[in-house]
Amino acid sequence: MTGNGFIASAREAAARLNTAPPAGYREVEARYPFLASEYYLSLIDRSGGSPENDPIWRQCMPAAEELEDEDGLPDPLAESAQMPVPRLIRRYPDRAVLLVTGSCATRCRFCFRKRFWADGGELADISAAELAAASAYLHRTPAVSEVLISGGDPLMLPSNDLRSILDELSSIETIAVLRLGTRVPVTRPDLITPETVAMLAAYPGLWLMTHFNHPRELTPVSAALCGEFVQAGIPVLNQTVLLKGVNDDAATLARLFRQLIAIKVKPHYLFHVDPVRGVRHFATGIAKGLEVLAAFRSNLSSLAVPTFAIDLPEGGGKVSLQPEYRRNGKYPSAVDGHLIDYPG
Ligand code: SF4
Repeated sequence: MTGNGFIASAREAAARLNTAPPAGYREVEARYPFLASEYYLSLIDRSGGSPENDPIWRQCMPAAEELEDEDGLPDPLAESAQMPVPRLIRRYPDRAVLLVTGSCATRCRFCFRKRFWADGGELADISAAELAAASAYLHRTPAVSEVLISGGDPLMLPSNDLRSILDELSSIETIAVLRLGTRVPVTRPDLITPETVAMLAAYPGLWLMTHFNHPRELTPVSAALCGEFVQAGIPVLNQTVLLKGVNDDAATLARLFRQLIAIKVKPHYLFHVDPVRGVRHFATGIAKGLEVLAAFRSNLSSLAVPTFAIDLPEGGGKVSLQPEYRRNGKYPSAVDGHLIDYPG
């Protein structure tokens, strides 16, 4: 897909940025194709010379390390094994995930569903029959009260198709909450019209989950769009992935999280990278996430601190992690670090 604001070749993207494509890009693209919006590429900072260490570049441009990871699994979270019907993942008794499309506005190189777009494939948009089968399952499974609409990116669907999905899910009496996960506000905010915002606002139980990873992604355009969602009464939460060489330092993340709460977007999760094939070079190690979290203790408002979590292999679910603060039965002061006894 080239045109309409998208570029589908790393060589062309690099040429637009007046720079050379990354080493080995042809082989990497043959396995994991490139796609980025012109908007997202425009966020790459070229002022410092080679952009290879730029956090936006690293998130969207192919890297040779993607092919060096043969131990990672395509689906370590066992999503395929947890589908009672096609497109619907049920890991927890009360929640399910509906995969509605494989389309995205930019292919993130760290994507945990990279298997959907490896080797030139792409998960198709959900069909009417698949939606009906998922709906029938949810009708006969009243324990599920919340559905995460995911993909791919649901906001890449034509509005009418998305409305049909939301109408279908809302018609199920036992579904109280819909969560819509999207990175379009980050990678292609201009695709979201006031009509789309109004359409989403009409569903009372709908929450929006954005995916900002770096403060440079939170441009005035993206921030204004988040403001429109909030103004329309849609709660907006953000998920961030901790990515080596992109955002793996406390100062960068604190800047992002402060900017998000200032526009009433709540940082919800900070995820460690899943052990997905072709992605693991972005993994920082869990210790890094705990170190970042510990640094937040005295330097970041609790409003801005997300839950740091890992998603267990074999579909074991999320586990939230906290640094161990206690030493010799005492806790360090957030002011000067001296150890304090907590009675009781
Ligand atoms: S937008 Fe989400 S689903 Fe699409 S490539 Fe990025 S991380 Fe993967």
